[in-house]
Amino acid sequence: MRTPIIAGNWKLNKTVDEALALAKDLKGQLSDLTDVEIIIAPPFTALAPLASTLTDSPIVLAGQNCFPSEGAYTGEISPALLRDVGCRAVIIGHSERRQLFAEQDDFINQKVKAALATGLKVIFCIGETLTERNENRTFEVLEKQIRMGMSGLDSAAMTRLTVAYEPIWAIGTGQTASNEQAQEAHHFIRGLLSQLFDVSTAEATRILYGGSVKPDNIDGLMHQADIDGALVGGASLKACDFIRIARYKRC
Ligand code: PEP
Repeated sequence: MRTPIIAGNWKLNKTVDEALALAKDLKGQLSDLTDVEIIIAPPFTALAPLASTLTDSPIVLAGQNCFPSEGAYTGEISPALLRDVGCRAVIIGHSERRQLFAEQDDFINQKVKAALATGLKVIFCIGETLTERNENRTFEVLEKQIRMGMSGLDSAAMTRLTVAYEPIWAIGTGQTASNEQAQEAHHFIRGLLSQLFDVSTAEATRILYGGSVKPDNIDGLMHQADIDGALVGGASLKACDFIRIARYKRC
């Protein structure tokens, strides 16, 4: 069985003090959860302080982004430096990176490969715009993002990659995909993974849903056969909401 993942993407929020307070709350209230992996991705400035706070905690620290090389790249962060500061995972290909910073699939693929080569786990984000969905192009878009962004990976690499399906129209809008819409996309993604790799790799890969996940919709989403967890933005900024999401109702 796939162990679920609940991941919080704090984006560009939280001072170091605020981040420490939230992380301490989560550590105190989630450390007994043994059947769910918890990941948090704070802003870069909070990574080092949080790494100390989360020592002896099962909560995994993740970067929100990385650059595929090291050296003369002002303002960027490498997978090796993320590891050095205590990260064990990184989010790559988030729609905000794709849309606001014009990141293309081939560049995202370089990042995925660099992060995996450094030993980080990768949360690889994909998702369609509302226009693409309305034009019935959702599967076509997801397939292109997966084929290009995951190009060159083998089954061994896939043991450290988690896919996050995040329909762009649902991110930060309060308009979550319905359970059926999310399940349909996840089922498609798993089918594609079994074509690109093999059935056992596809069955073992965690596929997270992201897009306005809240305490009041997580239970239904987690009830779907191919939804293995959530990537949570806004609701990960409040301890009580994120804790409720991590403690979703099992059936
Ligand atoms: C996200 O940014 O990955 C996200 C899913 O945000 P929100 O939960 O706020 O929609």
